[in-house]
Amino acid sequence: MNQRSYAVTPIVAESTLTCPYCGHAEHETMPVDTCQYFYKCAGCGELLRPKAGDCCVFCSYGSQPCPPVQQGQRCADDAAGDRA
Ligand SMILES: [Zn+2]
Repeated sequence: MNQRSYAVTPIVAESTLTCPYCGHAEHETMPVDTCQYFYKCAGCGELLRPKAGDCCVFCSYGSQPCPPVQQGQRCADDAAGDRA
C-alpha cells in the first residue's frame, strides 16, 4: 500500500517478542516510525528493556529487528551504543 522506492527490502512490521525471563512469546506489531524501548511481558509482567547496543526491545528479543534497523538505519542514536 505504502511503498516507497528507496526501500529495497520490504519492511516487516510484525515481530514475535520472546521474554527472556519466562519464555512467553507475544506477537506484536511494531511502530514503523519510532522505537519501543520498554515492553511489559504479558506472561510474567517483567518490564523488558533492550540489551546493551540494541535500540529497542524488538532488536533484542523479537523475531524481527525494528523497521529502521531493517532499512539499515539506527533508530535511536541516543539509546544505542556502538556495536560495530
Ligand atoms: Zn515474561
